[in-house]
Formats: sequence, C-alpha cells, structure tokens
Amino acid sequence: MNAQPAASLFINGQPVEGQGDALPVFYPYTGQEIASLREASGAQVAEACKVAAEAQVEWAAMAPVERGRVLSRAAAIIRERNEELSRLETLDTGKPIQETLVADWESGAAALEYFGGLAATVTGQMIPLGRDWAYTIREPLGVCVGIGAWNYPSQIACWKAAPALAMGNAMVFKPSEETPLGALKLAEILIEAGLPAGVFNVVQGRGAVGAALVTDPHVAKVSLTGSVPTGQKVYAAAAAGMRHVTMELGGKSPLIIFDDANLDDAVGAAILANFYSSGQICSNGTRVFVQSGIRDAFLEKLTARLAAIRIGDPLDPDTQHGPIVSPAQAARIRAAITAGEQEGARLVAGGVGEGAFIPPTVFADATDQMTLATDEIFGPVMTTLAFDTEEEVIRRANATGFGLAAGVFTQDLTRAHRMIARLEAGTCWINAYNLTPVEMPFGGVKLSGIGRENSAAAIEHYSQLKTVYVGMGGVDAPY
Ligand code: NDP
Repeated sequence: MNAQPAASLFINGQPVEGQGDALPVFYPYTGQEIASLREASGAQVAEACKVAAEAQVEWAAMAPVERGRVLSRAAAIIRERNEELSRLETLDTGKPIQETLVADWESGAAALEYFGGLAATVTGQMIPLGRDWAYTIREPLGVCVGIGAWNYPSQIACWKAAPALAMGNAMVFKPSEETPLGALKLAEILIEAGLPAGVFNVVQGRGAVGAALVTDPHVAKVSLTGSVPTGQKVYAAAAAGMRHVTMELGGKSPLIIFDDANLDDAVGAAILANFYSSGQICSNGTRVFVQSGIRDAFLEKLTARLAAIRIGDPLDPDTQHGPIVSPAQAARIRAAITAGEQEGARLVAGGVGEGAFIPPTVFADATDQMTLATDEIFGPVMTTLAFDTEEEVIRRANATGFGLAAGVFTQDLTRAHRMIARLEAGTCWINAYNLTPVEMPFGGVKLSGIGRENSAAAIEHYSQLKTVYVGMGGVDAPY
C-alpha cells in the first residue's frame, strides 16, 4: 500500500518537499509505512506564513460571492471524489471505510458548501446618530493558523479552512503528525476549485512546528483542535501577540439516561457516543449516568448489541470497528482500562484487546472519583455510573473541569430542558448524541475550549469589527 503524496508540504499553490526531520506515516491496521514525509523547517514555516500574508490581500479584496463560489466548487469536487478520498482517510487514520465514506470528507464538504453560501451574506451595521451616523465593517483577521488532531483530520482541516477563507483570511494548516495526508488533498482541491496560490498552505510537523506557527509575526489567529494541555500552551503563546484563538479541546462528557427514556434509543446513543471511530472523538459521552431503576436492563441490552459488532479490516465495508490510530495511543487506552479494573470498576464488556485493536469496553459500578470517570481516555471505553435523582446527577455531571458536550435521554420534555439549562457544556443533545451538522455551533466551555466552529457563529471567530464614525456637518471645537 502506498499513499505517498507529491510532496510533504503545500506552499504557495505548489507541493514542496519538507526540509525538516523524517515523518513516516503508518497504516494503523497493518503498521505498514504508507508514506514517507518530512517536517517543515523553521524557514519553511516562516515562508508559508509570509506567502499567506501576501496572498491574503488579493483574496480579501475579491467579492465575497466569488470567494464563496471557490469554496462551493471545492465542496463539489470533494463529493465527486469521496470514495478515493475516504479510502485515503481510512489509510491515514485506520477508521472503517464504512465511517469515512459518510462522516469525514462529507462533513468537510458540507462546511465548504455552507460557508461558501454564507460568504456573501455577511454585512455590517448602519448606526443612526442623528445628523451623524456610524457603520461597521466585518473584516478578515489576516493569516489564520489551523492545527489539527488526528481523529478527523480532513474534517478538521475543512471546518477551519471554510469559515476562515469565506471571510477573506488566508490559512496555514498543520495536521497532526499521525495523520498528515488529508490536508494535502484539501490544498490541491482548493487550487483546482480556483483558490489563488498561497491562500491555503499546509506544513507538516510535530508539536514544535505548531509552536513556531503560533508565534510567527504574520499570524493573527490560531484555531487548535487538540487536548487541553496543548490548548493551554497554544493559548498562552498566542496571548503574547494578542492573537485571536479558537480552542476545540478535550472532554469527559456526561450522557444522562432517565428511567423513562426509550431504552433502545438510549442504548444506541450510548454506543454512538462511545465507540464510533474507535472512541476517538472529543465530544464522546464517556460518563454514562443511568438512573438506578433501568441500570440492569440498560447494561443487558448494551452488552447484547456490542456482542454483534464486526471488528477488523477497516477497508472491508462490513467492518464497524477499526484499529486505534497508533501503538502509543493504544498503550494509553490499555493503561486506562487496567487502571479502571485495579480501582475496582466492573468490566462488563471488552477489555484490553490485542495488537492495534481494542474492543468496545464497558465498565459498571464505577464511582465519580475513579480515573475512568475523571480522565479523558480518547478510546473505546465507556464508564457507566448509577444515579437516583435529577439534582444529584446535575451536580455529578458538572463536577469536572471539562465542558465540551452533554446529552439527556428522557421522554419528559420539561425535565429535558430543565436539565440542559443547568448542564455546564457547550454542545448538548436531547434524545440524540454526537450529531454535529454544520448549521449548528459546536464547541466547549470551561477547560474544553473557547470559540465556536460551524454555523454563522464561526464567522465572528474569523473576523473583526471595524467601526466608522461619519461626521455629516461641521466640527464644533471648544477652543
Ligand atoms: P494534541 O493536543 O496532542 O495535539 C493537537 C495538535 O497540536 C497536533 O497537531 C499536535 O501536533 C499539535 N501540537 C502539539 N504541541 C503543540 C504546541 N506546543 N504548539 C502548537 N501545536 C502543538 O491532541 P491529539 O492530536 O492527541 O488529539 C486528541 C485530543 O484532541 C483529545 O484531547 C481530543 O479530545 C481533542 N479533540 C478535540 C476536538 C474538539 O473539537 N473539541 C475534536 C477532536 C479532538 P503533533 O500531533 O504533531 O504532536
């Protein structure tokens, strides 16, 4: 298997070979090296930012409707090539082709389509002041840096590029070192769709390359998808230059199931909230609070459904559960599972698995203090916790530094909204979980982040207001 790109980086409309350290890319299913890339050197990082700053001027001067057209064309190209792109995404991430065909590039295309349409609708305000008046202009920020995680590499690249470019910014994107391939395809597709050279650039590298991007003098904004510790470092580094930030960070989200819930739906949602993409999803509802009356029935239905899951070759269209992205990540997840058992939680499904695979794993009889219930594992590990009352579960659900997402399953309409009003989470679902259509703002509160991706809300995070006072008469100076 070979997924070697034309070159490791994409700068100024061209594939460019990296001059930094080697960056081999492995297919998580077999461990085979599928591409051999190189990191960007410091000079190449600086060059990408400089080129982006130059290209941004011309791009921002284009009519927004023309910018939108480029993004819409890119969305159409992605949809035409979805099969080929999804296969590459599977090789890069190890996620089942069954998922990548419908969730990854497809949701990236949706973002490009959405923000392509939105570009021309963004207007300022006219503010009457009597004789005088004022108006506002929503301006691009300039060069935005995007830094991605490895779980949805192409989706993340599109979710960041689409609103940034729609508003007339340029972008330098650094994918995760684990999954560098999709962003290079996006860069090619955007050029094919008519994007001027230099407006979207890709540099590769490990954390140090990301850190160099954040402090480059041309950069006005950084949008990171990653873990809380990385987010804290990037936010602090961005602050020195008063740069804007969007932080899409980790979570330990509660999924709360009341005893009046439709149990089959609640079990289905708990499965999707924990095991899709082998559990490598930031918004996962990994603390599943189940009301005591239905706890046994819930676990019984859940384990029966998990027993039928098809685990294996990610390129087999029947496979539902693929490998973990890397041996290092698999080792971290295994350590969390072992710690959970040692802390006294009851393993009711799955376990540490073998090789690249960790099966859907469920713990019962856990307590809120166990690391299983406090730490983000970022793997297929569900922790179920019993509760009795609404008041109790709200308190326990909120007793975490994270605040990315939350879900409530109940047939009681007023209870659902009462709960949501008190849950400390940026993205919530009622009788659903992990659905993130582009029309809906997505993001976290507390340690889980700042800013929002998707929807019209994202426009505000990729632009700034200029206010203009217009004097219509003489100037009355006091002396
Ligand atoms: P990391 O935080 O390890 O890395 C995220 C990105 O930041 C990577 O590209 C990484 O590079 C880069 N990076 C690392 N150090 C620095 C630095 N000092 N300065 C700038 N960039 C740096 O996250 P993972 O890739 O391990 O992804 C998993 C995490 O991402 C989980 O916590 C998950 O919850 C979160 N996530 C959040 C989402 C959200 O929307 N809220 C969505 C998806 C994931 P490299 O990998 O090359 O080291």
